[in-house]
Formats: sequence, C-alpha cells, structure tokens
Amino acid sequence: MAPIGILETATYHFEQTAKRLNLKSGLADRIYWPKEKIECSINPILSNGKELNIKTFVVRHSDTLGPAKGGIRMSSSVSMEEVSGLAMEMTWKTALIGVPFGGGKSGICIDPAALNQDEKEIVIRSFTRGSMRHISPELYIPAPDMGTNETDMGHIRDCIAYSEGIAITKGCFVTGKPVILGGIVGRREATGKGVVFTALAACDKLGIDIKESRVALQGFGNVGSVAALEIEKHGAKVIGATDISGGTYNPEGLDVRALTDHVRETGGIKKFSGGQDIQLDDIFGIDADIFIPAAGGSQITEGNANSIKARIIAEGANAPVTPAADRILNEKNIFVIPDILCNAGGVFVSYLEYTQETQREQMTIAEVENRLFDRMQERFQDVYQLAQEKNMTMRHAAMDMAISKVVEGITCRGYRP
Ligand code: NAD
Repeated sequence: MAPIGILETATYHFEQTAKRLNLKSGLADRIYWPKEKIECSINPILSNGKELNIKTFVVRHSDTLGPAKGGIRMSSSVSMEEVSGLAMEMTWKTALIGVPFGGGKSGICIDPAALNQDEKEIVIRSFTRGSMRHISPELYIPAPDMGTNETDMGHIRDCIAYSEGIAITKGCFVTGKPVILGGIVGRREATGKGVVFTALAACDKLGIDIKESRVALQGFGNVGSVAALEIEKHGAKVIGATDISGGTYNPEGLDVRALTDHVRETGGIKKFSGGQDIQLDDIFGIDADIFIPAAGGSQITEGNANSIKARIIAEGANAPVTPAADRILNEKNIFVIPDILCNAGGVFVSYLEYTQETQREQMTIAEVENRLFDRMQERFQDVYQLAQEKNMTMRHAAMDMAISKVVEGITCRGYRP
C-alpha cells in the first residue's frame, strides 16, 4: 500500500469538517481548492560549474483572510501534492491562531544536505528570482520550513532588494530573517516554544505534573531541538530523540544542551555519548508521557500508532499523523494537540515580524515571548472548551473553529468577484 501523503490527510480532515459544519458543496469547493499553484524549473549553476535543474513549487491556497503565509520546504522528495497539503494546513492555522493571513507554502526539490552553504545560497537566490512575481507582502510571504533556515531568509530578502535596486524591501517580503536584517527576536525559537506552551496547557488539563514527566521527540532540527530545551527548562526529562542520522535514549534523562552541541558539532544525533543509540522506529514505543513529532509528515501510521505509550502527542510537525493512525490514537485515549494549533507559534511570531517591519518598530524578546505564550494558551483554551462542549477531539474542535473563521471571512467579503 502506498504511504498516505500530507495532501490526502489534509483533504480527509477538511472533508470531515465540511460534513460536521454542514457546508454547502459550492462553499466547500471554494474553501478547499487553492487560489493558485505554480510549478517553476530553476537552473542554478554552482561555483564548480555544475548545472542543476530543480523543480520548485509555490501554492497560494487561500487569501480570504490576508496574503498567503507559509514556509519553504527544501527536500529531495518535496512535491506539488505535499506543498498543496501544507498550504491548505496553513490556511487553517493562520485562521485558528488569529493572524490576518491566508495559507501558502513553497517547495524546492533538492536535498539541502547535499549542498554546501555557498551552493545552498545559489539555489535559494535562483528560487527567489524564479518566484519573484509570486512573493510580496500583499500576495505570499515565505518563511523557513524543513530544510531552510534564517540564513536562507536573509538571502531571499537581499535578492529581492538587490533586484529592485533598493537597500530595503518595501514592506515585509519574508519572515524568519536574521534579526540584523529586520527579523524579530525569538522567531527561530517560536514554533518549538509554542509547541511546549500547548503541551504545558494539556498537562494542566490532564493532571500531569510537568516536572515528573518524560518526553520523547522525533526530529531534532529547529522545532525539535528548541522544544526539547524549552520543555527541559520546565522540569521535564527528555529521554529519547531521533533525527535522520539516528537516535538516542536515556531513561534517566538526556542532557539536552549537550545533545544540541553534539548535533551542531557532528551533524546529527547518532553516537551521542550521553545515551544509548536506538533505531529511528524505536522512538514511537518509548515509555514517555509526552511525544513530540517534529520531523516530516505521515510519520505516525497504523503500523506504529499502537506502540505509542505517551498520554499526550504534541504535533510539532505538520500532518505527522495519518487519518487511520488518528483513529487508533483516539481509541487509545491519547490526547493529541493538533498541528494547526500546536505548531502555530511560528506563524504567530512571523505576524509580529510582519507588523514590526511594516511599522518600523522593534519588539523586545520579553514582548514577543509574552505575546506568544498568551496567544498559545488562549487559543488552546478556546479549542479545549469547544472540544469539551461538543464532546469532540481537539483536532475536530480546532478544524471546526478554523474553517468557521474562513467561512466568516468569505461571508464578510461577499461571494461575488
Ligand atoms: P528542520 O529541517 O530544522 O528539522 C527537521 C528534523 O527532522 C531534522 O533533525 C531531521 O534530521 C529530522 N528528520 C527527518 N526525517 C526524519 C526521520 N525519518 N526520523 C527522525 N528524524 C527525522 O525542520 P523544522 O523547521 O524543525 O521542521 C520540522 C517540522 O515542523 C516540519 O514538519 C515542519 O513543517 C514543521 N513546522 C516548522 C515550523 C518552523 O517554524 N520551522 C513551523 C511550523 C511547523
């Protein structure tokens, strides 16, 4: 059986929500189908003269509530389908977390690990020039996602300003930039911290003492490593983690700072001396209270969902759980904090970066972190309350709330062009 993709998962959840909300088919179609899908080939020439041919994708799923917002995924397997599913998820996420954006996403089909820093910059600049007509503060504002980071966002900003022959861009074309280039303090940490803020709220509801809790993570990049450091700060023990290189386990608790240093120095988790090596799939069965998937999509499947022992799954990754696995997790009474809520901290702080740049002001780290904490907690409570009232899962409540906001936006704008 072919593995289920992110678009299929996103479509499944949308169709279920449309039924629950009793949306008429015309309206459902209007919400479901993307505004625009662009596939573009780029041909960067590397410093050694090697010519590449790379497929890139930009999807603007919705602009009902504002310009499309969503990260750039760089991976050898990224496809138009995956980008479309992720863009749709962004529409629900921005609506739910309450920022004036729609949903978008882009993809660059190459393995970032196969490029050195110079080569990556050449590819990023080539993507930017190829997609320039689709990136703007009024249309689509990219940010980092898997395989891209703030350095890449700095190159995008520079490339756009350079092409226009100006020193700074007119408005915010990209978020997640280095702070020195108009980025906002705390953006890099925002998604991982937001994940932990919702996990803390869930522990509170379930009567779990965070200081007594054990945590396992899949993925130790931006989201995973920040979430690990943050949850450790709140007193939890991180007992297992994996990245693409391998995994590590220590029932007494890993030293997360030392693990982060090891990853920075060696390029991956493998052979970390503070724990025993484990296989990638072992992470699902670890006896933890909280499991944070923070790698790719469709990782928790019917094949491994039964082995999960955690009481809480905090979806740091986008669409990490397939619909079949979701049913198993519900039957096992595992409390799942859905991605569109759990990992929305990144886009929330991106919105702060957007307003900061537009208004030419500077926010402090305390302001950013307090606003992030408040918004994540507030939205968690809203979703939790609806889930309790309607006796539904957190995912169903979050989806119902998000799509109702998009419907409200369409209604307020009016149906005619
Ligand atoms: P990243 O590229 O910084 O890190 C990805 C991590 O996943 C790496 O450690 C990689 O080695 C690991 N990984 C990949 N395949 C794996 C596997 N099979 N098993 C174990 N580990 C594996 O990416 P990121 O920005 O941290 O994004 C991670 C997830 O969070 C993605 O699903 C992304 O869409 C989602 N997300 C990111 C942000 C953000 O602000 N960066 C915001 C919202 C959601």
